[in-house]
Amino acid sequence: MLRVLQRIVEAVNQAPDFELALQTMVRQVKSALATDCCSVYLADHSQQRFELAATDGLEITNENPVHIRFGEGVVGLAAQREEPLNFANAVEHPNFIHLPNVKEDGFIAMLAAPVIHRRRVMGVLTVQQAQARAFTRDEEAFVVTLAAQLAVVIAHAESRGLLKRQAQTPWLRNIRGIPASPGVAIGAAYVMKPRARLSDISPKRSDMPEHEIRAFRAAVARTRQELHDLSARMKGQVADESLAIFDVYHAMLDSNSLGQQVEATINEGWRAQTAVKKVVESLVDQFENLDDDYIRERASDVRDLGQRILSHLQERERRHHQTPEQCVLVAEEVTAAMLAELPVADIVAMISLRGSASSHAAIMARSMGIPAVLGLDDLDLDDIAGQNLIVDGYNGDVFINPPLQVEQEYRTLAEEEAELQSKVRSARGLPIETQDGVKVSLQLNVGLQTERDWLAELKVDGVGLYRTEIPFMMRERLPTEIEQVELYSQVLEQFKDGTVVMRTLDVGGDKPLPYLPMQEENPFLGWRGIRMTLDHPEIFLVQIRAMLRASVKHNNLRILLPMITSAEEVDESVRLIRQAYHEVAEEFACAADEHLYEPQIGVMIEVPAMIYQLHTVADKVDFFSVGSNDLTQYMLAVDRNNQRVASLYDAFHPAVLHALQQIALRCQELNKPVSVCGELAGEPGGALLLIAMGYRVLSMNSYSIDRIRWIIRHSRADLLDELLRQALAARSPQEVRQVVTLALETAGLGGFVRAGG
Ligand code: PEP
Ligand code: MG
Repeated sequence: MLRVLQRIVEAVNQAPDFELALQTMVRQVKSALATDCCSVYLADHSQQRFELAATDGLEITNENPVHIRFGEGVVGLAAQREEPLNFANAVEHPNFIHLPNVKEDGFIAMLAAPVIHRRRVMGVLTVQQAQARAFTRDEEAFVVTLAAQLAVVIAHAESRGLLKRQAQTPWLRNIRGIPASPGVAIGAAYVMKPRARLSDISPKRSDMPEHEIRAFRAAVARTRQELHDLSARMKGQVADESLAIFDVYHAMLDSNSLGQQVEATINEGWRAQTAVKKVVESLVDQFENLDDDYIRERASDVRDLGQRILSHLQERERRHHQTPEQCVLVAEEVTAAMLAELPVADIVAMISLRGSASSHAAIMARSMGIPAVLGLDDLDLDDIAGQNLIVDGYNGDVFINPPLQVEQEYRTLAEEEAELQSKVRSARGLPIETQDGVKVSLQLNVGLQTERDWLAELKVDGVGLYRTEIPFMMRERLPTEIEQVELYSQVLEQFKDGTVVMRTLDVGGDKPLPYLPMQEENPFLGWRGIRMTLDHPEIFLVQIRAMLRASVKHNNLRILLPMITSAEEVDESVRLIRQAYHEVAEEFACAADEHLYEPQIGVMIEVPAMIYQLHTVADKVDFFSVGSNDLTQYMLAVDRNNQRVASLYDAFHPAVLHALQQIALRCQELNKPVSVCGELAGEPGGALLLIAMGYRVLSMNSYSIDRIRWIIRHSRADLLDELLRQALAARSPQEVRQVVTLALETAGLGGFVRAGG
């Protein structure tokens, strides 16, 4: 059954268009179950009815579309009850209706399975048979499984505007994702693909075969070099048998067959990328259909090799391709490496298939001050390239090729945003305190973006979080101590009037190092942050030494330890930091004009276990900093990067707020300074709640500083106490948002949480 299922799903996914995909599905299901009829009905929520979209078995007597109203018939009932219905004699069921224009007299039994995507009924898949017998449990499970797969196909088609009802109202073509960075922007979609996938390539022709062949040969040469480097790097790290795969790859490249076939296909008028796809896919097909297990296994090697060649072809293309001015960056997942390749000033917004509001892509968008909508997993990257887009980062809407009047409306909103931005900028340098005199210190989160000169103009009290991992992720190897000293010196110098909290390497999770393979089932619960660096003291010590050497003269360095779970980890880290301190201090001992100060050490509170161990580590360190992004993820057991559960991730969850308050109170009792450096601190409502809890140091991205300063200066601390009381008493994050939004609107600050003044 599994193989049949896989075959059907594959055939459906490979169908060239949506209608054919549905036809393929009904034909193959009918044949697999050896039944008499299979049909798909699609839900049209605006008309409150289902439309028969594909059938193999029903006889339609005229041209008119066939509809069933919501709640009617066995189809309507299955959708309403959101469960499969399996009737041996459906005709006698009180809900059964005879559809006009449809001949189905011969069918007695019926199995109807609702097609549901993210809790929304998208349609119903039915099978019918002449014989009055219930479908077996296996058959039922088979149809339900296919209905779940069909849901994805329909959702995908819906987002691409392929459903008939959408075609009638093209101006309404919008998709909704996860709002990940506020603001609105308009621009042309610039699609960036990090690594080629054969299946992504849509066939394209070319009438310049010599040019395409040159490109193909160059890509093969680069692939050879890449394989050579890779196998050299892995030598000694993996067993020799594992390295044999590289010989297989080289042999495939040496064999004339692959190259000759690709070049012959190019000479037939296809582009190099298309030719690689065609040849490799046909080879994979041949391999997969052979009986020999060993050869079948080689199919994945051929595919991998094909993808490597493809990615080199695409890389070359990207180098020649200019990003348009004012573009919306579109990607499967936006990474820091990707941004480093692009002229950041030209990017007005970003959207992506993966990611959610607290993933690092979202944090980068916020620090760039551009709107972002992430988790648009039904988006078709090829389909959207070059289209005009409106991105609304407040509610997660993306409009594709909007009509002029919608675009005009959004231009007005964007202008209002710009006005708000210049208004809040005017308060730079003014005291940051509430109207009733509560002083708050605002600091910067830096590191995910290249630091810019104008950060000094923000008039902040220093850097509350410097994320050090990006220079580690952007290289092919670990940065040397000297390279790190240079980087850290720049930041310590730029912010010499304040303190700079440097966090030790926090890789793992959604920030893997390309040269330290970490294949883990649950990376966010795995080898992350301090767990990894304590296992590699040689990496940790080099980083600490670099920080210390960079700090000579400045005396503004503080060191922050990420992902701490236990007091032992603190002990071990402090021991290593002291060791590094003594080593570096010795170096500088004879230099009369230079002095090495001992840095303050802090611990991040982002693993919930720390909340209950503050007393055990308080006397070992100088300060705490709350990482509300990870604290939320671990308290709610929601992967912060997974869009499927993104709606469950919310730092406004009352449980998270109670934890944050408990931390503030406990740190007061222990007399330890505590700040918040997670994204919540830079959110208008979040900052107010944190101030009410007693936090007086908030660290956030550059874009939020002016806004939060303005909001604090227009708030009253005594009113915030009541707001906090209501938020802590709320039953859900949504309720918390409601009370917070109401408070902001009442204070005339609503423009900070929605589009428009
Ligand atoms: C956090 O977890 O809140 C934090 C500041 O660190 P990061 O987002 O880099 O994990
Ligand atoms: Mg964190």
